[in-house]
Amino acid sequence: MYPLEGIKQPTIEDNWRGIILYGRNSQSYKFALAKSLLEMRPAEGDLIRLEDIAPIYAGHLTDHLKTSDKQGTAPSSKFLDICRSFNEGSTTEAQLVKKTIELGFKNVIDAFHRVYQNDVPFRFFEDERKTNGGIRITTNFSLLADRPQFEDLTKEAEARWRLVETSWELKLSRALITVHHDSEFELLFALDGKRRRKNVTSSRDALNGYQLGYCFYCFDHIHLDQGKESFPEVDHFFPHTLKQSGFGSIIDGIWNLVLACKECNRGAGGKFTAVPTERLLARLNTRNEFLIGSNHPLKETLMRQTGILKADRKVFLKNFYNDVWASLLHRWEPVEKGEVRF
Ligand SMILES: [Zn+2]
Repeated sequence: MYPLEGIKQPTIEDNWRGIILYGRNSQSYKFALAKSLLEMRPAEGDLIRLEDIAPIYAGHLTDHLKTSDKQGTAPSSKFLDICRSFNEGSTTEAQLVKKTIELGFKNVIDAFHRVYQNDVPFRFFEDERKTNGGIRITTNFSLLADRPQFEDLTKEAEARWRLVETSWELKLSRALITVHHDSEFELLFALDGKRRRKNVTSSRDALNGYQLGYCFYCFDHIHLDQGKESFPEVDHFFPHTLKQSGFGSIIDGIWNLVLACKECNRGAGGKFTAVPTERLLARLNTRNEFLIGSNHPLKETLMRQTGILKADRKVFLKNFYNDVWASLLHRWEPVEKGEVRF
């Protein structure tokens, strides 16, 4: 058997993003653990004892509880009750840390690497709670820490956490949940049952991982740090101008939003009001299927906007494309600056 040409093994970042961006999530503990590890940035071989990580981990959870009381689908949790009581001032920090060590890591350490039915191939730590009272950092984590995208992973984890807790908090049936994009503030927001607006997270932070941290069009590196030249722009694949020419607010749907480098968006030879080529349309379809894979609430949002079945979503994009091309007439594709990733 010869390997098929062009098949690429998932990268270390793919494994990490698999854990954070996909998977079913019945509790938010995975996000808190991920954020704690990213913040501590331990080296390969380091033993992180539960007492060392507990204050940071509990800190993330108590912070989130302040704005979103629902941190899981279970009706009650002893550990979350301790976190709430800390926020109310009835539990001291020492008690919180003690209880976190006792109750807070029960399912999350075992389940952290699980995506779909199995653990991802690249583990970021080994469980040594029984022998050494903590977790041991693997080579994979230090390789991840050396990658240029490492700094963005915290923002991605935070954005995903906000999205998931919002869908729990809204108390709407899943089929009714839609996440909207505010193009002025570049924020995602949702509406509750009474149509009250709840801001969720930055559109950039939420979208970055689903295009693997590269410009959607040219695969140049992008970074979520506003101070950098490589800070991406939230771009409408089908140009924003269509909103005023009869296509309406569907243009602002998440299905139509991608992150682009400044060059592609508005550099010399940038996209402006042209229509991307069919090759790029196929890529949009792939990216949208990544969003569908992420479960609530992006999955429901995309399905509402573009179709319940995969085949319907393809037809939706094709029909939309034909209408837009007939209206805008010009087409565009950039010179690729990096390897095609998806
Ligand atoms: Zn670009």
